[in-house]
Amino acid sequence: MSQVYDRVALIGLGLIASSMFWAMKRAGLAGEVTGYARSAETRDTAREIGLCDRVCDSMAEAVKDADLVVLCVPVGAMGAVAAEIAPALKPGATISDVGSVKAEVIAAVAPHLPENVHFVPAHPLAGTEHSGPRSGFAELFDERWTLIVPMENSDRGAVGRVNALWQGMGAFTEEMDAEHHDLVLAVTSHAPHLIAYTMVGVADDLRRVTDTEVIKYSAAGFRDFTRIAASDPTMWRDVFLNNKDATLEILGRFTEELFALQRAIRTGDGDHLHAYFTRTRAVRRGIIEAGQDTDAPDFGRAKKG
Ligand code: NAP
Repeated sequence: MSQVYDRVALIGLGLIASSMFWAMKRAGLAGEVTGYARSAETRDTAREIGLCDRVCDSMAEAVKDADLVVLCVPVGAMGAVAAEIAPALKPGATISDVGSVKAEVIAAVAPHLPENVHFVPAHPLAGTEHSGPRSGFAELFDERWTLIVPMENSDRGAVGRVNALWQGMGAFTEEMDAEHHDLVLAVTSHAPHLIAYTMVGVADDLRRVTDTEVIKYSAAGFRDFTRIAASDPTMWRDVFLNNKDATLEILGRFTEELFALQRAIRTGDGDHLHAYFTRTRAVRRGIIEAGQDTDAPDFGRAKKG
């Protein structure tokens, strides 16, 4: 894979930015990669582990001369970051982001950007429950989808290079409009996270009654919920505050289905339950056939202890 950009700047140096850096290095996609994080602690860690070719102490210094600037901060911080970098951007540069919500991020970022830069939002559908500069790894995006969400008037050449970068980092890419992206993600990611947070919260309340049994005997279903519910609180607070309508729409449907299943249990309607679980099993099969998960009994994770 050949170089796509001479200079790339990463703003925010957490899980996604650090994974991008290692993936870009793996494939030689960028000449020089600069990085900036708001805390001196994160910048020191980045310097210590060789995350970025040059770690800068200001956003302006990091984005100066960059051909691509990627905003890798929580969704709620994107607007303020865009306002701060705007005066320092190189004419003709491309600005992208990795935010988990698109319509609100576009609304927050676009007004700050000068006319002589290209804005090409994107969202890698890959992550872990870990965060921070040490959590990234080059393989994170391999064979995962990255959705590219161009603006109506986005320059096609700039969109093509963002596509090429993500493909070079191992991802499959597809273009999508912002509203559709936010609805799809509400179904596939945002509502499931909220449900996991709720279930773990309920179990935690119950733990006070049953002492340590919830942890001690935690079965696979609950353990998987706890992994999801260990995700970064700031990131997820911002996701729900910024993808409000789509998430509420899906949660409304979820609640209706839950009540229907609750009634089936109360009335002993086994046929309803069986038919429902048969349908959902087919969804799982589809995901495995599409290569987006493994059917290993432990979900492909190494067994511990
Ligand atoms: P992360 O590991 O928590 O890192 C976030 C980075 O943003 C840190 O460098 C942090 O700086 C910086 N930051 C936090 N609040 C800020 C603020 N108010 N102003 C300026 N900088 C701030 O997060 P991440 O998981 O990489 O997520 C980054 C973005 O990717 C988010 O928009 C998220 O929605 C999106 N995303 C995440 C996942 C996932 O699974 N994690 C997947 C796809 C997309 P300090 O270290 O100095 O505090």
